[in-house]
Amino acid sequence: MPREYLKKASLTSKSDASETKKIVRAILDDIEAGGDAKALEYAAKFDKYDGSIILTPEEIEAACALVPEKLKRDIQFSHDNVRRFAEQQKSTVANIEYEVVPGLIAGQKAIPVDAAGCYVPGGRYSHIASAIMTVTTAKVAGCNHITACSPPRPGVGIAPAIVYAAHLCGADKIMAMGGVQGVAAMTFGLFGLPKAKILVGPGNQFVAEAKRMLFGRVGIDMIAGPTDSLILADKTADAHIVATDLVSQAEHGYNSPVWLVTDDRALAERVMELVPTYIDDLPDVNRENATAAWRDYAEVILCADREEMAATSDDYAPEHLTVQAEDLDWWLDRLSCYGSLFLGEETTVSYGDKAAGTNHVLPTSGAASYTGGLSVHKYMKIVTWQRATREGSKPVAEATARIARLEGMEGHARAADVRLAKYFPDEEFD
Ligand code: NAD
Repeated sequence: MPREYLKKASLTSKSDASETKKIVRAILDDIEAGGDAKALEYAAKFDKYDGSIILTPEEIEAACALVPEKLKRDIQFSHDNVRRFAEQQKSTVANIEYEVVPGLIAGQKAIPVDAAGCYVPGGRYSHIASAIMTVTTAKVAGCNHITACSPPRPGVGIAPAIVYAAHLCGADKIMAMGGVQGVAAMTFGLFGLPKAKILVGPGNQFVAEAKRMLFGRVGIDMIAGPTDSLILADKTADAHIVATDLVSQAEHGYNSPVWLVTDDRALAERVMELVPTYIDDLPDVNRENATAAWRDYAEVILCADREEMAATSDDYAPEHLTVQAEDLDWWLDRLSCYGSLFLGEETTVSYGDKAAGTNHVLPTSGAASYTGGLSVHKYMKIVTWQRATREGSKPVAEATARIARLEGMEGHARAADVRLAKYFPDEEFD
């Protein structure tokens, strides 16, 4: 039996891509030419904001004072988990030193990038957790300078809890500027900021496109645009939990796809009945987002068996992948394309999004087919070095000269020859 679509999307993440590209290109070009003043114009246009851009220590302190103590403890809990997990990741990055041939030693060093620009989304929701995910990880990696930027609310500025989280996690500067203008300001070094060497963090399609266009002159973590999520569920899954989890991710935005892949028709039909009722029960903004996401982007796919379910999931390469099925070890072993995997009903994407310790900045729109999510590794340059004794240099010089001459690269060959002649004047080399 081939895959059967019980519900098919009418739109995909590529649907409005060319219009987004045009808009973002124009804003980036304008800001590069016009500097701070142009960035301020866009902040006024998109976010109706004309307040302080780089927060002063007094403004940070005042914002932090507005955050309730219980929320501060939750932010601390989440920060501790993300930090400890990032520290474990960092412990896997080894500096190495290896004798490739006798007398020639090659090494690898992991060097953190100097300045990180962390984008913390804030258009629809106050993404406190994105501040924790990006800034904490940059700090553990060892970046010298960390800027956190987030869109201000009209007349208010950045949500106080985002300011608190960014400050707690180690941001050196906090900038009230969102969207393309925020990303541009960090890249071009506006408002006195050091030019970012890497841009990280999630955002809407405009933010994701700006990062894509700037990649090359600045590093990026990955394309982390509108969220997408896939659930793999078999007959053992609880339809109520599956439906709740699908709705939890559809609320991200009107363009956040959620996909259910199952081999159980009865489960699929029950979930499709439940989802609209759960969406109807959400508060206003969340309901609008989830309604549009479910209507236009969601899919429900019926497969013959678990092997076809796994293959379908790998084709979609979802940002978030949940398995609510028997034999979790089989799925962990079999699945290969996802940003973050949530095995079993006892955990959920929301845990990873907010507080479990794994990073929530993850590849979207199929990018999980070639990359994982944000980790300390993304902030680290793995560079190599070498040195040699004269004896160690000899066989390498001989091979180098011959390969270079065959390639027609006489200058390269002579760089080897000159050493052979200097170190071994009594020998002949061909
Ligand atoms: P955002 O901060 O990403 O974007 C808000 C900014 O968008 C505004 O400051 C404004 O400058 C700009 N903007 C809005 N309309 C514009 C227009 N027409 N032209 C140019 N610029 C415009 O916040 P958001 O919009 O709430 O989006 C957050 C996104 O982050 C969601 O799509 C969510 O799914 C995604 N997200 C992704 C991940 C991940 O890891 N992939 C994690 C969390 C959130």
